[in-house]
Amino acid sequence: MNLSDTLQYLKGIGPHRADSLAEIGIHTIGDFLTYYPRKYIDRTSILPISHLPLNQEVNCIARIIQLTTIPIGKKRLTVTVADHTGIIRCVFFNRIPFFQKFFHVGQILFLSGKVTFFNGKQWVHPEYQIIGENTDISQLSRIIPIYPWSKELEKSLLSQSMFRKIMYQLLFEQELNFGETLPEWILLECHFMQNREALRQMHFPESMQSLEQARKRLMFEEGFYLQLLLGIRYQANQRRPGIAFNPSQGLLRSLLDKLPFKLTHAQKRVIREIYQDMISPHQMNRLLQGDVGSGKTIVALLAMLLAYENGYQAVLMAPTEILAEQHYNTIKNFATAFEIEPILLTAGLKTKSKQDIINRIASVTPGIIVGTHALIQDPIEFLRLGLVVIDEQHRFGVIQRGVLPGRGEFPDTLIMTATPIPRTLAMSIYGDMDVSVLDEVPTGRKSIINRWYLQNQLPEIYDFVDDQIRQGSQVYFVYPLIEESEKTDLKAAEIAFQEIQQHFKSYHTALLHGKMKPTIKNQIMADFKANQIQILVSTTVIEVGVDVPNATTMIIEHAECFGLAQLHQLRGRVGRGSNQSYCFFVTALHLTPEGKQRISVITEHVDGFLIAEEDLKQRGPGELLGIQQAGLPPIKMIEILTDLDLMLFCKQKAQQILQQDTHLLLPENQLIRDELFARFKDKIQYLDIG
Ligand code: ADP
Ligand code: MG
Repeated sequence: MNLSDTLQYLKGIGPHRADSLAEIGIHTIGDFLTYYPRKYIDRTSILPISHLPLNQEVNCIARIIQLTTIPIGKKRLTVTVADHTGIIRCVFFNRIPFFQKFFHVGQILFLSGKVTFFNGKQWVHPEYQIIGENTDISQLSRIIPIYPWSKELEKSLLSQSMFRKIMYQLLFEQELNFGETLPEWILLECHFMQNREALRQMHFPESMQSLEQARKRLMFEEGFYLQLLLGIRYQANQRRPGIAFNPSQGLLRSLLDKLPFKLTHAQKRVIREIYQDMISPHQMNRLLQGDVGSGKTIVALLAMLLAYENGYQAVLMAPTEILAEQHYNTIKNFATAFEIEPILLTAGLKTKSKQDIINRIASVTPGIIVGTHALIQDPIEFLRLGLVVIDEQHRFGVIQRGVLPGRGEFPDTLIMTATPIPRTLAMSIYGDMDVSVLDEVPTGRKSIINRWYLQNQLPEIYDFVDDQIRQGSQVYFVYPLIEESEKTDLKAAEIAFQEIQQHFKSYHTALLHGKMKPTIKNQIMADFKANQIQILVSTTVIEVGVDVPNATTMIIEHAECFGLAQLHQLRGRVGRGSNQSYCFFVTALHLTPEGKQRISVITEHVDGFLIAEEDLKQRGPGELLGIQQAGLPPIKMIEILTDLDLMLFCKQKAQQILQQDTHLLLPENQLIRDELFARFKDKIQYLDIG
């Protein structure tokens, strides 16, 4: 049998079960073998009854001495068992008729589970197995795997024990045809076990130590091949011919002279890194990470100007219409001084003006083009595309890479994100890109003052808001999506808006939400920017990127309904100017412990990286997989995402190999090459190692 064989001919799995397994991504024998246990039950130590501790997973072997059914109160069956040290009650509340038939006095049971205390020690629904004459106790008293279970598996009518049995047969009794997947020298150097042994130990460990060793090896293997894949992609990116822009002829200097502020050191450093890439004859593939407010837009603009000066088109893509419009206005502000006329393309345009713009994009060069991702969805032709900048990448959900391929030459790509991600995850997601970090906030900003308020304290906040507006500032009120239905939510925001409008009669107020027509949204944003509107009541459409430095106060209602990352993004809308800013997190009186924790973290911290780490701790690595984007293999050993040392080690080994043998052509790397193709054939065929 081969690893690539389908499951349905396996003993115990027919076509129906094979279908159910396919639904959770188990198609082949290989998939099945790498469906790793979620946890293990250690049945190796068997204790005498007199020594059973409370509330721990324990095992014992005992004989049934009495069966009693208690029909009054909560109906139950008590099975009393004994060994030479004492007796204990096992209590069953469910399936009583079944158990009454199943158990008999005199039977010997292998029992596992937690002992609790209720009128003496008792065992409620312990796991049991009857020990007969032919039972091999050494098979019972071992470490037992428990597999992740799901609705699909439920449907398949498989049970944990059947699943276990099939796995056992596969690993120990079948003629399975598979070779080693790591080269001998790595096994020796790292003291790893062979892969067959590692799989056996992973599913049926002899001891917790051997399980640990097996896990280490399998984790390394997964991380190693992932890093190899990323390394090969990185090299391919580096080799791909790009445009060798000429250094700036002075446009940059004149723009810098016109800026109302000085660039931070971090901005200067990052711009230098980007310019170096752009001037080199290779395609740029760079990620720019910078917390909210670190000043990414101006960096993007400077990069775009270099392309412009060289006679190329530069494109800036934003995740929302509001943001596209805002970037367009920012750029227009600076650009008119140089007689540059930026072009704006969004999905909301009327057909005719849209066609005009598309025609211009296809015929005018050089050019500065701003738009939403409509730019990549429509078949738009660029005349001479030199640079693509993608802002707030995470809003796209999926990382776009190799954007706009085949459109003209290979344009340079700059991806900007404000979502700080832990390093191990960054290594596995962005391992094929160069990374720049804006780790400095412009000076002259006062840090935001954060306050946690309860809903019944709103009148106090209203007074504060009044005060702020009288001093010339502006205010955001934000409402989350609380209900399942967007309609109900909107209503909540609308009612709140009416109340606010009523209360602040002497000011201009407006409501902004995602369902509005783009033209209306843009008009409201423009009015807010111009301080024609003092209070903006909004749903989370303003979450990313919106930049109105004169807005100094934000009130986030139902703050407990937001995730940490989102709260941080929202708050980033204030604290953008030189005036003191304030953020009020308004919550219900009673919060879940996690809700409380979130609000404490956000009110006490402003550092995006710290908040992101805290976010991860709260949500667990399961969430990480949600951030994993298309184009990368799914990660089975999700622990590698939190084990930085291991990931660094995997990367180091992968690089060591690629440095000596870029295309994996040496005979001693044949095994690695074959394995890499077996794993990722669809992901590397277009790279030139194929
Ligand atoms: P983000 O990184 O969140 O996209 P922006 O690019 O929107 O940040 O910049 C936030 C605000 O800071 C803008 O109003 C921008 O004009 C201003 N800004 C950018 N760089 C500097 C700087 N070096 N000094 C002062 N203000 C700056
Ligand atoms: Mg931004």
